[in-house]
Amino acid sequence: TAKIYTIISGKGGTGSTTTVINIGAALAGFAKKTLIIDMDLGMPTVGLMLGLETKTTLHDVLSGDADIKDAIYDGPSNLKILPGSISLHSFLNTDPDKLAGLVESVKDDFEFIIIDSPTGISKNSMAAISLADELIQLMNPDIASLAGAMKVKAISDSLEKQFFGIIVNRTGVVKNELSSERIETALGLKILEILPEDPNIRNSVAFKAPVVVKYPGSPVSVGFNRLSAEISGIK
Ligand code: ADP
Repeated sequence: TAKIYTIISGKGGTGSTTTVINIGAALAGFAKKTLIIDMDLGMPTVGLMLGLETKTTLHDVLSGDADIKDAIYDGPSNLKILPGSISLHSFLNTDPDKLAGLVESVKDDFEFIIIDSPTGISKNSMAAISLADELIQLMNPDIASLAGAMKVKAISDSLEKQFFGIIVNRTGVVKNELSSERIETALGLKILEILPEDPNIRNSVAFKAPVVVKYPGSPVSVGFNRLSAEISGIK
């Protein structure tokens, strides 16, 4: 049965969708049966980033109009993806409370499920957090991102959720970057990986491919692969 990791973030644009796609693709590349679920129901982008032509989506499944098996698509290295719909109409009809039962129905088909949680605190993000066996806190090394992370951490703690740790993404951009010690102390969590700002991420998006697939030697890919090896227990 699958172990579920939810990637959470307190602020938009920190790179959570990128991280979900690349951890998923790296695990699939290690021949682990992996499913990505795009729980960012308001602004789902996993399908777009991977160039999927989607008809049936998670939204159809959550509104009771479709079977979950019909909303799962193929990505690179046999990665499976449950994408969302970008139409507003679909969003208004979804019921996030249905998610737990849905995930239960496919859990035995996978070794890992990676969930992209919407940013911040909402009914949808709470559903995504609740499902996790382990949470990964994604952030950028700036004070606004840390403030958001602390808020999401507090919510997760109130749900008694376990944290795998922190990923600090997009380092090397801003002056006065927060130090690792400052981040770890503020959140009471360990940093798992530090990922630099890397133009290969944007280049890979243009090819609608994960950076770990398109540019496996780039600094972020090395980081995503190392972390995914740790997750999969092959490190
Ligand atoms: P979120 O899902 O948290 O809103 P995304 O994964 O969509 O964030 O990333 C936001 C933007 O930042 C995207 O254009 C993405 O390509 C870019 N990005 C994310 N991480 C990096 C990085 N390490 N280096 C360069 N660009 C990045």
